[in-house]
This record gives sequence, C-alpha cells and structure tokens, in this order.
Amino acid sequence: MASYDEVGVGDSVLLNEISTASFVENIRIRFNNGRIYTYIGEVCVSINPYTSVKLYGPDYVQQYKGREIFERPPHIFAIADAAYKAMKRRGRDSCIVISGESGSGKTEASKIIMKYIAAVTNVAGQSEIERVKNVLLKSNSVLEAFGNAKTNRNDNSSRFGKYMDINFDFKGDPIGGHIENYLLEKSRVVLQQKGERNFHAFYQLLAGASDSDLSKMKLKRDVSKYHFVNQGGSPRVDSISDKADYKAVISAFGILGFSPATIDSIWRTVAAILHLGNLEFVQDGDALKIKNKELTRIIADLLTVKEEEVVRALVGRVIAARGEVMDKSHTKIEAEQAKNAFAKAIYERLFSTIVSHVNTAIQVRDEEQSSRYRYMTVIGVLDIYGFEVFERNSFEQFCINYCNEKLQQLFIELVLKQEQEEYLREGIEWQKIDYFNNQIICDLVEQNHQGIIAILDEGCLNVGKITDELCLEAMENKLKTHKHFTTRKLSPSDKELKHVEEFRVKHYAGDVIYNIKGFLEKNKDSLFQDFKRLMYSSSDPMVSGMWPEGATSITATTKRPLTAGTLFKNSMVSLVKTLASKEPYYVRCIKPNEQKSPVIFDVERVTHQVNYLGLVENVRVRRAGFSHRQPYDRFLRRYKMISQYTWPNFHGGSDMQGTKILMEEQGFSQDVKYGKTKIFIRSPQTLFALEEGRARL
Ligand code: ATP
Ligand code: MG
Repeated sequence: MASYDEVGVGDSVLLNEISTASFVENIRIRFNNGRIYTYIGEVCVSINPYTSVKLYGPDYVQQYKGREIFERPPHIFAIADAAYKAMKRRGRDSCIVISGESGSGKTEASKIIMKYIAAVTNVAGQSEIERVKNVLLKSNSVLEAFGNAKTNRNDNSSRFGKYMDINFDFKGDPIGGHIENYLLEKSRVVLQQKGERNFHAFYQLLAGASDSDLSKMKLKRDVSKYHFVNQGGSPRVDSISDKADYKAVISAFGILGFSPATIDSIWRTVAAILHLGNLEFVQDGDALKIKNKELTRIIADLLTVKEEEVVRALVGRVIAARGEVMDKSHTKIEAEQAKNAFAKAIYERLFSTIVSHVNTAIQVRDEEQSSRYRYMTVIGVLDIYGFEVFERNSFEQFCINYCNEKLQQLFIELVLKQEQEEYLREGIEWQKIDYFNNQIICDLVEQNHQGIIAILDEGCLNVGKITDELCLEAMENKLKTHKHFTTRKLSPSDKELKHVEEFRVKHYAGDVIYNIKGFLEKNKDSLFQDFKRLMYSSSDPMVSGMWPEGATSITATTKRPLTAGTLFKNSMVSLVKTLASKEPYYVRCIKPNEQKSPVIFDVERVTHQVNYLGLVENVRVRRAGFSHRQPYDRFLRRYKMISQYTWPNFHGGSDMQGTKILMEEQGFSQDVKYGKTKIFIRSPQTLFALEEGRARL
C-alpha cells in the first residue's frame, strides 16, 4: 500500500493502468530498490534477488507474526503467516503453491516458508517439537543432494517435483510431515548436456568420502574417470562445495535417523552406478562380451549380488515362450541401452527409497497422545517445476507442462471459487468474471481414449509394431479438430512446424512444439525383468526391497505395469485433489535475468514470465471483483482519523455502522458494499484516497 511502501506499488491491484508493461515496470522499479516482493491481492510475486538479502531475520519474523497481509510491506513471511493463521485460528488446512521457471527461486522460497513456520512455533520450547522442526528442515539437504543438479539455468536445480505436508497439533506446533515426490528426471543419470552435471550426490561422494571408504568402493577421487559424471565438461561449480555438502548430508542422515547400514547401502548403490557407467561391451563373433571384466566383480560386490548374474543380465536376457525358457543375447546397442535403463532405474528407486526413509523420520509420532491428532491440521508446500520450453521438447517437458496446466486449472477454480464463496458468505452480490478456462487443454492430455496420454498408452501396448511416427498419426486422426493441437500434416502451411515428427500444443502459457521421437519408449519406461530379478537377489535388504517385482517367476504372466504417462497423470490428479481440499496461497516466482545477476532486470525475459504465469489476468480478475476487503474493526482502526464523525471518538454503534458513516461522509458509498463482517471496496482509487487522507493528517 502506498503509505508504507513508497517505492512503486506494493499491490499491483492499485496500479493506475493495468497492462503487462505497467505491471513489469512496477516490479522493475521495486526490484531496483530492493523490494523483491509485490502482491496481487493475496498472491505474492517474488523476484529472485540473486544475492543474500537481509529480509529474513528475527526482526522480520516479529514484524509479520500474526499480522494481516495488507498491514505490512509485501513479504513472503506474510503469506506463510496467512497460511499459518488460517490453519491455527480457523482450523483450516492450507497450502502454499510455489511456481515459476527454473532458477526463479521456488526452492529458496519453500525453505524460507519452512524457516518462518519454525520460527513462530513452539514458544514453549518443547524438545519433541524442536526435534520435529529440525528433521523437517534437515530433510531438504538430503533431498537436494539426491534430487538436485547443476543445470545451465540453475546451479542447484530441483530435478523432481515436491509436495510437503507439515502437520500441526491443536496448539499450532509442528508434529511431523510427509513428502510426495514427482517425476525425477532420471535421464540425467546417464546423460548430461554441456555445462551441466549429474545429481549432486555423485560428486559429493567422490569429493567427500574418506580415502578408505573410496577404496572399499574401488573408486578414485577423480571425477573425470567416470563417464556418467563428466559429460558436461565442468564438474566443478563455484557456488558449490561438494566436500562440505557431503558432510552436511552425512550429518542430516544422522539427524533423520538413517541407520549406518542404510547409509552404507545408499552410497554403495551410488558407487555401483558410477562403475556401471564405465562398463563397455565388445562383440566377439556371435557372443557379446564385457570389455572391462573387472567392473562386474566390483558392481556385484557393491550390490551384494552374484557376479555371474550381473554378467548374464547385462549381455542378454531370458525369454519365456510357450512355457520354454531360453537365453537371448543382446546386440551391442541393445546392451548399452539396457545398461543405461538399468542405471536410471537403480537411481530412481534409490531416490524413492530415500524419500520413504525421510518420511519415516518425519512422520507424526507420539501415538499415546491421540487427542492431539484429532485436531491435527496441515500446511502443504508445493515446489514444482515451472512451464518449460526448450529448443527441443520431449516427453519430460510434455509432462511438466501438463502439470502446469493442472495447477493453472486449480488456480482458476480456487481463486474464483474462493472469491465467490466469500461474496456468498458475506451476502454480497457476485458478478461472474470471464477468464480463459484451460480445462480444454487438460482434457487434450488426459482424457480417456481420446487424450494424448491414452493414445501413447495404446501405442505402448504394441511396441515393435507401433512406432513414434504411427503414434503421431493416431493423434492426428483423433485430435484433428482439436483447437489446441496441430501437426505439420494437419496444417501444412504452418512454417514453425519444421518436421513431420513434431506436434504443437497450444498451452495456456504459450505454444510448445514437441518432438514425438522417444515418446513411446519413455512412456513405456520398461526395464528387462532380468535386472529386477538380479536386484531382488541381493543379500542387502535395502537393495532387494527396492525391487519386489524381481520375485516373480520368469514364466508367470505379469500384469502390464502402468506407463510413465499414466502414472504421472494419476499423481497429478491426486495432487490436485489434495490441494483443492485446502485453502490455497500462491507464491509466483520470477527470474530477473539469465546471468544470475543481482542488478540486471531483463524486461523481455520478465515480460515473458509475467505472461505465462497469467499475472496480469490475475490482477484483472482481482480488480473486476472487489479489489480490497477488510473486517470492519480493522478498517475503522486504520481510517477512523479521517472523519470528524469517527475521530477522535465514535459513539454511534457497531464498527460496521462507523464504517458506513465514514464512507458516506467521504463520498465513497457508490464504490463499496457492506458484507456481514467486512467492507468490500471495488476500485483501488478509493483505497488510494483513504490512504491519502491518512497521509495528509
Ligand atoms: P529449479 O526449478 O531449477 O529448481 P528454483 O526455482 O527452485 O529452480 P532456486 O534453486 O530456489 O530456484 O533458486 C536459484 C538460486 O537463486 C539459489 O540457489 C540462490 O542462489 C538464488 N536465490 C533464490 N531465491 C533467493 C532469495 N530469496 N535470496 C537469495 N538468493 C536467492
Ligand atoms: Mg528448485
């Protein structure tokens, strides 16, 4: 609000002109003056400062604790506090959805929120609550080690989506939590772009483990010796100390209660993947052999399986046809592909296992005091990949962008629904606002039989016969009239579609051209049963426990596993259901430039993000209704001094009556509506005038 925050406008709803340009100009001015947060009503827009800002100390916590959003300058603490208050005062579950592109500050924002919650809770200083707060905070360090990587856009990029519930008891103190993870980018395990790295954990192990531990795992410290971790060509990152991070992860493992045996299994599995990456095949007549034989011994030891089984699973597979079982040798290319699929699958399962161990550590304990749980409430924090458009977009971008469609759909529903509910509750007449409903794009992706995922799944039933190209043809047939889908064949004059292999989806955030090549394989996401049996045979219970399907006999007919696309769709549907049951708060993160600079504000890049986050639309929706609303008591407290009837004393009745008298005297009655407990102000100008009235005194 203008009075306390004279740089730019703290709430974009109060902008004189609503356009993308004026919205961007306002956040530019604010960013240049160290104001990284700006509101759209109750949505917090956050610009990555790319420098450590002194905005999160105990003094700031005190300023925001228990206050209303509009009372203090925009800050992410105010959002965290609003979510906390909803939960504590009204017993409502709430959630904070953080979105934005890679490097925009989502993960930092989620950590700031968690730290704020830790800072305002447990005033009584109970040791069990302190333990819970500590394990919740420490879980980040473990998840980031195994799920984050250096990319060209962010030195600490989360390569998975994360939704974390924090559970509170009736006093509002945290008693536990639960993490749900989504779609880890496992292709990174075997392949990295120039300038990028594999997941941090690999480098941490090589830099941080003791000489004797490394030698037990037959590893050398030198990163350049391992194919899986040096493809990017820059294993060292200035902003990262792998050695110190290794220590931090080991300490976090301890705090989270991971047993020494589990920790040992985790690192041995990481080491096995490093060795697997160096393994090469040679064709020897009809037979396929392993070139560096010594590695299979090492891998077998690390995974505690039999060496000959490792060799067998790598060079061929067992097939069962009409009850008969026989060995079939791989070609060199098949073997290499199978090896990579194996490495990716091991890492993916390792990551999921680590998440479930973290969940065990943070789950709500203390069963005796069951009364505490009856009143248990939840704040959920979602830190998930933003909309992605690359030079070449594949299955991963398709899933990520579908996820963003789902979240946008939820945003539309919840923001509008919430408004509508409030008007209803307060007895205010409500006029429906027009907005683009992206349900049609969600349907395009997820509809049964007709949707893109269903068509891909159908293709996966017949791999071998159905190719990516045939799958695209099937899409063309089924979706030719869909307004948000096209291909070169469907619109030959479209110059942007350069290949027949491409299709374009008109997302709510903009057009994305996907290349169908590889979609089927990635959707099928299959791994030869031989590897599953091999891993299940491990004498390490953690390793074998990750591969329960390995128990199935070779001749048994097994149910076809769900495809990656369907699993992702199901997880999104359930995520949306979880979020929809809670009171939502939004943090929209923006990246100011590509250089990671604290002083550059790239107007073009920011404009692009503002557009696809739909922020200006958000301002319009907010303004079309009542841009501001306040409970009568607070309103009167803030503005009573501007009217002779309410200042210095008002003796005329309720706060509502006082508010009415004040607004009539000031000539604003036309612009407001009086609800049961709140005043609703339509135009921001009225609020401006009130604020000016205060400032004049
Ligand atoms: P990704 O989608 O790749 O995971 P992200 O949106 O989670 O990206 P972050 O990792 O949170 O991005 O932020 C990238 C970097 O920006 C951080 O490592 C940090 O250096 C800087 N940064 C982000 N937010 C802040 C902040 N509030 N204060 C200081 N630095 C920040
Ligand atoms: Mg992140």
